[in-house]
Amino acid sequence: MLEQWSNGKGSEPHISQPSITPSLQYSSLTELARGPAGTLKTLLGKYPHPKLIMIDTHAHLNEIEDIHRAILRAKDVGIQGIVAVGMDLFSNRTTLDLARQFPGMVHPAIGYHPWSISQETIEENIDFIEKNLASCLALGEVGIDYKTKIKKPIQWEVFSRVLSIAARNNRPVIVHSRFSHQRSHQMVKDAGIEKGVFHWYSGPLEILEKIIDDGYYVSATPALAYSPPHQAAIKTAPMERILVETDSPVEYQGRISEPADLMITLEELSRLKGMHFEDVRSITFQNAKLFFDI
Ligand SMILES: [Zn+2]
Repeated sequence: MLEQWSNGKGSEPHISQPSITPSLQYSSLTELARGPAGTLKTLLGKYPHPKLIMIDTHAHLNEIEDIHRAILRAKDVGIQGIVAVGMDLFSNRTTLDLARQFPGMVHPAIGYHPWSISQETIEENIDFIEKNLASCLALGEVGIDYKTKIKKPIQWEVFSRVLSIAARNNRPVIVHSRFSHQRSHQMVKDAGIEKGVFHWYSGPLEILEKIIDDGYYVSATPALAYSPPHQAAIKTAPMERILVETDSPVEYQGRISEPADLMITLEELSRLKGMHFEDVRSITFQNAKLFFDI
């Protein structure tokens, strides 16, 4: 998670409608369309019967209140897979449970987020990742954040240790690099990681150039609708190195997100790149399949 993070608490006006019958086709789409979410409502009007195929490459599913409805709505807009990320022991365990509950739809990544680091929990978190990473799709969410109170040397040590586990297990890495882009990129490179995505990249374009030159990826979120640094980065990055995601349930301009909001990310990306929605969907879908080997 990055920037306008929310813990998923609070009202979710677009899913508060009672008496939804999940067995009705598109019932959940209707539910979304009824909600006050302007952009998504417009999109559903534009693509009333979507047969799109998409992968949300980054969601904190363990923080979504009504996961069954969120998964149903994701499927209805054409999401074929969700990469669920963990941040600590608890969310890693929940993420693995969700992957068992929704096989083929939820793909687990486990991680140790810089916000979750505390001296007393380092060993048990790293031990869990060591034991379970081989059965997961990727390592994440991990990284460095210079806006948290956790001391830099501790963050660097943890990041270095989890990166070496990913390298040994040949797993892609989902990187949180807020205000630490240079160091995060350097450490990923030094660890010999072949596949890395710098999630919600909003950093300097000089470092983005190095990230791309080294074969790594950046991901786009619904913040493309309003964040100039994120727009600048994603405009610069080549299409073949962009993954799309929601970082659900992050709140974007007052709206708590869920995986179905991937439609918003794709629409904003197509606007930014001046490309057709369908082309952007198709390229980013192939990118995700290639990156995660799904
Ligand atoms: Zn995240």
